[in-house]
Amino acid sequence: MALIVQKYGGTSVGDLDKIRNVAGRIAKTYDQGNNVVVILSAMGGVTDKLIDTAEKITEFPDKREMDVLLATGEQTTVALMAITLKSMGYKAHSILGHQAEVLTDNQAGKARILSIGATRIRKLLAHKQIVIVAGFQGADSKGHITTLGRGGSDTSAVAVASAIEADQCEIYTDVDGVYTADPNICSRARKLDKISYDEMLEMASLGAKVLQIRSVEFAMKYNVPIHVRSSFNEEEGTMVVNEDANMEKVIVSSVTHNKNEARITLLKIPDEPGIASKILSPISEAGIIVDIIIQNTRSGNMTDLTFTVSKTDFKAAMQISKQTASQINAGEVVGDENIAKISVIGVGMRSHSGVAAKMFATLAAENINILLISTSEIRISCIIEEKYTELAVRSLHTAFDLDEKK
Ligand code: ASP
Ligand code: MG
Repeated sequence: MALIVQKYGGTSVGDLDKIRNVAGRIAKTYDQGNNVVVILSAMGGVTDKLIDTAEKITEFPDKREMDVLLATGEQTTVALMAITLKSMGYKAHSILGHQAEVLTDNQAGKARILSIGATRIRKLLAHKQIVIVAGFQGADSKGHITTLGRGGSDTSAVAVASAIEADQCEIYTDVDGVYTADPNICSRARKLDKISYDEMLEMASLGAKVLQIRSVEFAMKYNVPIHVRSSFNEEEGTMVVNEDANMEKVIVSSVTHNKNEARITLLKIPDEPGIASKILSPISEAGIIVDIIIQNTRSGNMTDLTFTVSKTDFKAAMQISKQTASQINAGEVVGDENIAKISVIGVGMRSHSGVAAKMFATLAAENINILLISTSEIRISCIIEEKYTELAVRSLHTAFDLDEKK
């Protein structure tokens, strides 16, 4: 007998047939003699719809009330799941985030979990109930309902698993696991059996949507192994776990791409102390996250500064940069939205050299120009022209020996 946490995402509980399918899986796990705690997302598309509805009332709806509103998505699915399981003759009981004692800070819309009490979950399990917990939500110390940010049910699942010391934390989704590249653009992409927390964190921050970043951070901190797998078949998925010696033998474990990037360059800036801060502080004050930053010197005490932001922030960042440029007597501000970030990731990079050289040579062989480069200990990213994204991903996938052997 094991204590198993299963999380099902929005597409897995998208309609009543899918809820019935998931109920069948839960029942099967329970019938095998396990204690089962289920975390659910809202039905696919529901959270988006709720946001749209509120934004029809006003452009900036009150944040506290948005949390109260968005939490209803998950409230609906847990009730429907419990009704389904009970109608099948099972003992099931749905609870909301605060009833599961998910205590968060008070940042509406992006609250962080501070602790989980879990006494109620344990009591219900002792009574042989299947416990169905609403994901994505908790309450702050004053009892206000909070939500954990988009995709937050993943974090709920990992946090509950850690609080009740579950034997397994399974995240069920609409893909078979974590892939070496996006299978939609790279037909030779393979499902990975195992990936380290560090690599998964890099992938999540580069735009892979399979797990919320915070859930991976949480899992790493509390050492919760995650099994990412499909709710539509019985295949084993991908284990997200601590790094082991074997993982280091593979130099690159995945190639990712992100088309949601844009580049801004300020030309002919007077080169003096404090200039980078003058340019970038107003950007960060506007809540815009800057990714890559590069400063080049040119002759005559002039410098150029280039940085990237997400496409959604491009217009605002351009406007701010133009204002700053005129204040500091800089030259032109040039923007480019047609770029993409291509990255290779692998913990093996820590102990192998030549990865960057191989990446650059591979792109060069395809005549793809590299516009910007950035690196971390286990990642190398290149900004290229967006139109070469697919070609770059496929050729790097082949070059780093990731292709499925057919
Ligand atoms: N329902 C929330 C969202 O759509 C949380 C989740 O699904 O994890 O972002
Ligand atoms: Mg998700």
